[in-house]
Amino acid sequence: MKTDTIAAVATAMAGSGIGIIRISGDDAITVADSVFQMKSGRKLSEMPTHTVHYGYVHDGEEVLDEVMAVLMRGPKSYTREDTVEIDCHGGVYVVKRVLETVLLHGARLAEPGEFTKRAFLNGRIDLSQAESVMDMIQAKNEFALKSSMKQLTGFVSETIREIRAEVLHEIAYIESALDDPEHISLEGYPSRLRAVVEEISGRIEKLLADSDNGRILKEGISTVIVGKPNAGKSSLLNTLVGEERAIVTDIAGTTRDVLEEQINLNGILLNVTDTAGIRETEDVVEKIGVQRAKEYLKDADLVIYVVDTSTELDENDFQIMELLSDRNAIILMNKSDLESKTDAAEIKKRLDKRIISVSAKERTGMDELEAAIREMFLHGQVSFDDEIFITNVRHKAALQAALDSLRLVVQSIEDGMPEDFYSIDLMNAYGELGSIIGEAVEDDLVNEIFSKFCMGK
Ligand code: GDP
Repeated sequence: MKTDTIAAVATAMAGSGIGIIRISGDDAITVADSVFQMKSGRKLSEMPTHTVHYGYVHDGEEVLDEVMAVLMRGPKSYTREDTVEIDCHGGVYVVKRVLETVLLHGARLAEPGEFTKRAFLNGRIDLSQAESVMDMIQAKNEFALKSSMKQLTGFVSETIREIRAEVLHEIAYIESALDDPEHISLEGYPSRLRAVVEEISGRIEKLLADSDNGRILKEGISTVIVGKPNAGKSSLLNTLVGEERAIVTDIAGTTRDVLEEQINLNGILLNVTDTAGIRETEDVVEKIGVQRAKEYLKDADLVIYVVDTSTELDENDFQIMELLSDRNAIILMNKSDLESKTDAAEIKKRLDKRIISVSAKERTGMDELEAAIREMFLHGQVSFDDEIFITNVRHKAALQAALDSLRLVVQSIEDGMPEDFYSIDLMNAYGELGSIIGEAVEDDLVNEIFSKFCMGK
């Protein structure tokens, strides 16, 4: 039987310089091959078992970390399955990125204790050995659980409980109707159920969006600064960074390369990409800059549009505004120390975003900019510690899985499937949501024991 491939961070996240990602299962080596590039150019799958290899982990676009990969073919591994362990060196954030990349390439996130569960199921260790491993890590696990509970304060766990109660209600209704069709009718039920499921799905989507805000807080807001040449983008970046790093010139179009800076704005991290001005151009070098700028725009959490108020708005500005209409953007009216030739009303008409008057040169308006970003991304201060992140990823995966199951319910309704189809997917959603707040649906012995393990063990 083919087993699916699981992955998790096998080391403590807090305070450790390196992190090990463990991948186990039939496709472990294939998954590793798709994210790990050996220095020698060879493939991990061509290598003999129990060997260590040096190389890079990449996400298809960029190199994430320099790593060592340990190859252990089953049955000589902890789980008795093919296993690859990736030793990362880049700290918590990088370890997380590497894990996410592995998950995108065919592995799924391991349940707590799942590696040990597999070791047990594959006859590698017996139950009492498994239990002694459990004892050893229990203390740490309690800490992790506490962190995860801490994160699930109030609103989130309450919402999940409410949603679960609604889901359970529907399951119970369907079951009783199927049991006792004489007294409980399913007439018109599918469309009622559909409304309930859609409402619930919306709430889960909101929770997922919030978890992205969590990501943004922890990893930084990916920010792109745009504006026509000479608007003052480099100057703004310098002002924000607080030192002269970008090259400031007054020849149009000289900031040709894309610069990246991480800026800490009183606790908010901005990962800023400064780009060549977006505009139509014949210059090849500039074209690359512009093209890349457009690409960066697509992925940005935040776009800062710098307007040169000492000149009149022109075609460049109009084009930029058009690109920004569906983006999270802030408009900076720069060079407020000079006489204004820009019609703010015209901007407002074309692009309905927050407008702030600044001078990159005199360093004014920066507090307003900070406040606007804070408002946009932080609805109340949230604090993170390293131990929380792993549960975060798990919570997110469970929410996503619940949402997927609910979508299947809607699909079944649309396809006119019989009612017992709905309950299967509702039950799945119920289970996934329960796993977030620690309430499992099934509690057979094996699951009970292994669910007490922490991730990656
Ligand atoms: P970029 O092409 O958008 O990166 O623009 P730069 O940052 O290179 O700035 C172009 C020119 O405008 C430089 O001479 C800057 O000194 C000037 N500049 C930028 N911001 C301001 C400002 O707020 N006030 C004034 N007076 N000049 C500015």
